[in-house]
Amino acid sequence: MAKYDYDLFVIGGGSGGVRAARVAAATGAKVALAEEDRMGGTCVIRGCVPKKLMVFASEYREIFADARAYGWDVQDGAFDWPRFRTALHTELDRLEQVYRKLLDGSGVDIFDTRASLEDPHTVKLADGGTKTAKVILIATGGRPDRPETPNADLGLVSDDLFGLEQLPTSILIVGGGYIACEFAGILNGLGVEVTQFYRGAQILRGFDGEARGLIADQMRERGVDLHCGTNIVEMAPATAEHMRHGTDSDAAMGADLHQAQDRATGQGGAAGGPVRVKGSNGLERVHDRVLFATGRRPNSDGLGLAGIGVETGRRGEIVVDAYSRTAVPSVYAIGDVTNRVQLTPVAIREGMAFVETAFKDNPTAVDHDLIPSAVFTQPEFGTVGLSEEEARDREPVEIYCTSFRPMQTAFADRPDRVMMKLVVSQASRRVLGCHIVAPNAGEMIQLAGIAVKMGATKEDFDRTVAVHPTMAEELVTMRDPVRSA
Ligand code: NDP
Repeated sequence: MAKYDYDLFVIGGGSGGVRAARVAAATGAKVALAEEDRMGGTCVIRGCVPKKLMVFASEYREIFADARAYGWDVQDGAFDWPRFRTALHTELDRLEQVYRKLLDGSGVDIFDTRASLEDPHTVKLADGGTKTAKVILIATGGRPDRPETPNADLGLVSDDLFGLEQLPTSILIVGGGYIACEFAGILNGLGVEVTQFYRGAQILRGFDGEARGLIADQMRERGVDLHCGTNIVEMAPATAEHMRHGTDSDAAMGADLHQAQDRATGQGGAAGGPVRVKGSNGLERVHDRVLFATGRRPNSDGLGLAGIGVETGRRGEIVVDAYSRTAVPSVYAIGDVTNRVQLTPVAIREGMAFVETAFKDNPTAVDHDLIPSAVFTQPEFGTVGLSEEEARDREPVEIYCTSFRPMQTAFADRPDRVMMKLVVSQASRRVLGCHIVAPNAGEMIQLAGIAVKMGATKEDFDRTVAVHPTMAEELVTMRDPVRSA
């Protein structure tokens, strides 16, 4: 009789956990997976996938306007949120079933319940019973985190956006990271009046400075009321009095207040209802909704980690080595719960490397270097490698950069600008960083990322013939550096 019920028990059915379970099962291992919520996790159910579909939905306003410039007879139409939301959830249901079938087809036993650790080889299931496993993999992901501002529970978090009964008329988005900037663009595109507060000097901290500046300018150009160096000083439910008289000298508030007042009926300013916010910039306004996009926290609470000796860090992240091993030899952790790089493809990579290490006798460390990624802001941002600021702190660099109005939108007389930038080592000539702000920049950076990961030099880029007429051809036609640093 086998010593354990399973060779592997995975806790968490998100991208990382599902991939690890399937690949481990393919080695012949007996595998189980527990998920307390919906299969697919953050990426599929309340993150990347529904977000990207919302980005597509939000872009049609501009597409319709451009179509007229191209000679099409297109009438303005209204966006029907309930219709889109229904279609969105139908699609998410379908994808959830795909994930479930993939696990079933791989022979993985699924437990639709919460699981925690009882000892280094025993998992306790919330709906009763325990299961033992030779190896346990924790892939429980993360969740949105609210700041400690009083009354922060009046605000929404990103999870809430996909199920809203109706779109707000106005929203204050707090934060300047991926989620804040992406939803500022989405909601603005869908016709919501968007105000954004970011506490720092410029949004998208950590990315290339020039790209950040262009994205911020273009977000403002498109109508996002972005306030940097600003945070919430005070927030409270909007009372009928606030909504009758307003709290803001800003005349534009009038219409917003009336709409917020209509929405407040029956909600009395309860969580998710109109909120009066005083900003550190002196602005006091009623917003139909407030969204906190102020970072995410690892889902490590209540897993019984401390009891068995699994170490966690300051934000609750599970501490692992390069092989995703925790302090307990039979317990591994991957994905957002380890708070290394919070990206779906990275969690998947970590899951695959875990299987190599634990089930194929091939210890494999995850390579977290030169990860290309995209921020689905409007305009979109694709990036890989070092920002100009990071690179010039390390070594002398040359900067090749161009910014221009792309053909497609210039024809429609839109003021959009795109940017292509290469950060090049003066010594090795290697391209240390590539930063693209442009429609479909995510698609472009995936390909440029291969060259950068391979160690391509500026001369390798130059040797490549341009694809004409495209925006990306500028990546191989920039002859002279704009500066050396
Ligand atoms: P981020 O860490 O990207 O951004 C959090 C933002 O909130 C920062 O601007 C931060 O400011 C600000 N902030 C944090 N605490 C406070 C506070 N107390 N008061 C005011 N502002 C605060 O987190 P997100 O939630 O946007 O996203 C989480 C992660 O999910 C991302 O880091 C990314 O890895 C992943 N993600 C990836 C996407 C993609 O690949 N396209 C899309 C969405 C998410 P400061 O800069 O000053 O710290």
